[in-house]
Amino acid sequence: MVTTNELIDSISSLETLGAVGITDSGAFRSLLSSSEHGKCTSTITRFIGGHMATTAVSVGTMKAAQISKAGGDFELVERDIPEPGPGQVRLKVEACGICHSDELVKEGLWPGLQYPRVPGHEIAGRLDALGVGVTAWKKGDRVGVGWHGGHDFVCDQCRRGDFTMCVNRKVTGIDYDGGYAEYVIAPAEALAAIPNELPAEEAGPFMCAGVTVFNALRNSGARPGDVVAVQGIGGLGHLGVQYARKMGFETVALGRGKDKEPLAKKLGAHHYIDSSTVDTAAELQKLGGARVILATAPSAKAILDVVGGLGVNGNLLIPAAPNDPLTLSVMPLLMGRRQISGWYAGTARDSQDTLEFSALSDVHPMIEKFPLSRVAEAYERMHSGKVRFRVVLMMGS
Ligand SMILES: [Zn+2]
Ligand SMILES: [Zn+2]
Repeated sequence: MVTTNELIDSISSLETLGAVGITDSGAFRSLLSSSEHGKCTSTITRFIGGHMATTAVSVGTMKAAQISKAGGDFELVERDIPEPGPGQVRLKVEACGICHSDELVKEGLWPGLQYPRVPGHEIAGRLDALGVGVTAWKKGDRVGVGWHGGHDFVCDQCRRGDFTMCVNRKVTGIDYDGGYAEYVIAPAEALAAIPNELPAEEAGPFMCAGVTVFNALRNSGARPGDVVAVQGIGGLGHLGVQYARKMGFETVALGRGKDKEPLAKKLGAHHYIDSSTVDTAAELQKLGGARVILATAPSAKAILDVVGGLGVNGNLLIPAAPNDPLTLSVMPLLMGRRQISGWYAGTARDSQDTLEFSALSDVHPMIEKFPLSRVAEAYERMHSGKVRFRVVLMMGS
């Protein structure tokens, strides 16, 4: 960390060398001197050897929650506030959702993961610094960063415009530090603009859970009026039911137990099927068979129980991976031209579409908020399965 005094000293020595081009170095000094606890970041433009360079000097630290080994506990640490490199931005994080996938960092389940790592890919905040070459955004913009944490623009998939399938794609909070922190650095291509009316604590969960189900449904081939079933009323499912209804589908919620029916109906389901008491597949067939089943509960058994509910040309979409393999008979797929597909999140623009559609259509995540200081408790709450339905860490609270 550079202290305020060290910074003033370095400016003085550069001035002595005639290397610093600051229009009003006196004002700059007083700004530094008066900044509270030295929390100030400024850019010094230097002219050295006829070349202009921009050096961002960071003054100040931030709180972050990191994991330093596979299976380790959360550690609340003070870190230097990082600086954005070329093509990158820095966000002052306001909210960050906790996703089940953060387990990949906590338990070391992602191949090649480097520790220590700050998890978090459901980030909402404001831009407070821009790296060189970032032209499409400005300081103060409200933005989100989700699972899709960047791409290389040059691989074959990127050349075809399919950025989510980039062979060098980055995942926020896995390939670089994520949003369980007061500040985060992200590449500009990972940013989604947040509509004014959407609060940060709602925008966060839309950046992974939201875009995953929204983008899966809108690309599923289902058309308004088609029967679309959402299996599992949880973090993904409670959003899936809302989106399915707002997209104009005949919406069926599939859950276990009678107790979830009122909530499913409140979220917009036309029908609720309690798989603990009836044959889900048979019930779906009574409705004509599902054009799409969005299987949000990561359980191979639960998925197998609903496959038989697909109608002709039906598509079973899986956005969350079960640990167990699926073993099923292919004949019903073949006879009804049915398919089972995986779904992978979306780009930052897909996330922005999710945010905009949610604001426009009055879709809301159900959340519980925790301060960053209670991250371990918040994470346990998320993984207990008791939460309804997403946990969001709030910075500065
Ligand atoms: Zn996620
Ligand atoms: Zn690429």
